[in-house]
Parts: sequence; C-alpha cells; structure tokens
Amino acid sequence: MKTRHSRGRQHPEALHPYRTHYQRDRDRIVHSTAFRRLMYKTQVLVNQTSDHHRTRLTHTLEVAQISRTIARQLGLNEDLTEAIALAHDLGHPPFGHAGEEALDECMRQHGGFEHNLHGLRIVTLLEYRYSDFPGLNLTWEVLESLAQHSKRRDDAEVKKYCAEGQPFLEAQIVDAADSLAYDTHDVDDALNIGLITLEDLEQVEFWRAAVERVRQRHAGITRDQYQTAVVRALIDWQVTDLLEHTRRRLREQNIKSVEDVRSAPQLLALPGEQIRAWKAELEAFLHTHVYRHHRVMRMAAKGKRFVRALFEEYCRSPEQLPKRYAERAREGNLERSVCDYLAGMTDRFAQDEYLRLFQPYSIV
Ligand code: MG
Repeated sequence: MKTRHSRGRQHPEALHPYRTHYQRDRDRIVHSTAFRRLMYKTQVLVNQTSDHHRTRLTHTLEVAQISRTIARQLGLNEDLTEAIALAHDLGHPPFGHAGEEALDECMRQHGGFEHNLHGLRIVTLLEYRYSDFPGLNLTWEVLESLAQHSKRRDDAEVKKYCAEGQPFLEAQIVDAADSLAYDTHDVDDALNIGLITLEDLEQVEFWRAAVERVRQRHAGITRDQYQTAVVRALIDWQVTDLLEHTRRRLREQNIKSVEDVRSAPQLLALPGEQIRAWKAELEAFLHTHVYRHHRVMRMAAKGKRFVRALFEEYCRSPEQLPKRYAERAREGNLERSVCDYLAGMTDRFAQDEYLRLFQPYSIV
C-alpha cells in the first residue's frame, strides 16, 4: 500500500511537513493512553505473576518487530505495518480472554463485547487527546485492518470496512506475526514460571525439530541458554517459512498490486503446510498444558469474577463512574458506558478498584 493512495482520515487534516500518514498513525497509537495501559494487561498470565513474562505491551512490541522484518523483506509499507501491529491489541480488556468472555456475557443483551471491535471504538471514539476530533482520527487503512480482524463480520461497524475484499498484505502479515509470536512466547513464559517442563515439550514435534536444529548449530550450548536458543529457532523458522511461502504465492498468483491482493481468492500471507501442521500441534499442546493449567484457570476465574462484580455494581449505581462515563451513562447508554470503562482498565487497576468498591477498610 502506498501512502499517497490512502483514503485519508474521517476528519480531514493538513498534511504534516515531514511525517507520512502512516507514520503519524503509528505515533498517535504510541502516544495513546490505551497503548500505555497494555503494560499492565494480561497476555496469558496476570500482571503480578512475575517481572519477566509477556504483557500485552511486550507482546505487541514483539509482533511489531517481527512484522516489520517481514514487511521489509516483502517490500511492503513498513509504517503501515507497524501502525497496524502496534494497534492490534489495543481493545483487550483486563485479564485477557477471560476478561473478554466475562464482558461479552455481561453485554449479551446489549450488543456483546469483542476486543477487535472495542479497539476500533478506542481509536475512533474513546481516546480524547485531540480537540478537533474524537479518537485518534487514524487513516482508513489502519481502521480497516483492525475491522478485518474482527470475528463479528456481520456487525455494521465491521461491514463498513470489509467490503473491499481481502485485507491488505500489511494486515495479513501482522496477523501471521501475531500468531507465531504468541505460540512461541507462550511456551517460553510457561517454561519460565513452571507451568510446563522441557520434558513435557518433548511430545511436541515442532519443539523437537527446533531442539535438533539448535543442537546441530551450537554443540556446546549451556543449559541456561538452551531454552532461549530453541525459542529463537522457532521464531526464525516460522518467519523464514512465512516469507518463503508468501513470496511463492505472490509469484504463482501473479500478485502485483493492492487490487490483486484484494481480489485474491484466499489470504496470501500464511505459512506452508509443514509449519501449519506443526503449529496446530503446538497450539493443541498449549491449550491443554498452559491455557487450561489450573494456575491459569484460577487467574482467569478470578479475573472474570472481578469483571462481573464491577460491571454489576456500576450498572446498579452509575454515579460511581468517573464523570465522562457517568455522563454518557445518563445519556441512555448505561451498559455500553460501563463496558467501555471496564474494558479500558488494566489488570492492576481493576483489582484495586474491586478492593475500593468491596473491601470494607480500603481507601476510596
Ligand atoms: Mg496479539
């Protein structure tokens, strides 16, 4: 995608003297409140688990970095890629997917909740940093890429952006980078906090293959560096494979322009057969041994409990909401305002807020 072909912004703005549209988008995302809050939001493990595991913020940075590498290799628009990557998880509520499920249940009668749609709401409405417009007034291309990622394809807000066919290649590679990043770093984090052991991983073929690769290349590797070397090999392998197979599809299907990408029958940025099969097996392992580990389930259940309790309490008495949200609640949008407020919270803030509201001796 070329910057000069951008459909521009909903609220027209003068061009910046030296930053392109997508550079400005990226910068606005980095300066947003929602972006900084990613620091205290769960990826898989709740924030206080350790000082070293991935948070939404460090996950986002890994995705952005991997995406840029791929974009540069394929000659795509790096700035657009980076903007999409940095924004891709802005809509996540506290407590990861558990928080998302809880909010969706709370909002069942009121339009539901989904993090991609909420991300769109943040960048088009909820951020309030600019006097001339609500949200961040990002370009159409970044908004479309966030919308294309949503599973709620029949939602009016999503439909508006998805009539053009397949997503931009820049968005497709962010999606692929997201998936390869979390599959890999979730293994790393799970090992580090002792949810799984290196022995458990021997049942995973992709892991065994990466171990073999590391052994061949680094004969004298110490135990301390072994795990990081295998994790690095897994990322490198997946990125290289993705590049190879994406290039092949672009060549075979004679993809030369954005229009060609739009009208391609399928996504173009996907790994090859072998890696897809290995990834599927790795993901199945993660589901059973990590995402369903009793310690993770306990964090998830607890997170859900906080979300439900806060939701009910604010709905019961919206006077407890901060002014901006209380006003919108009074205007007749009670549940959505409560949901917006809750979804914006970090794990840490939600836990403190729970104590403030329900603990007899905490400071209000
Ligand atoms: Mg992500």
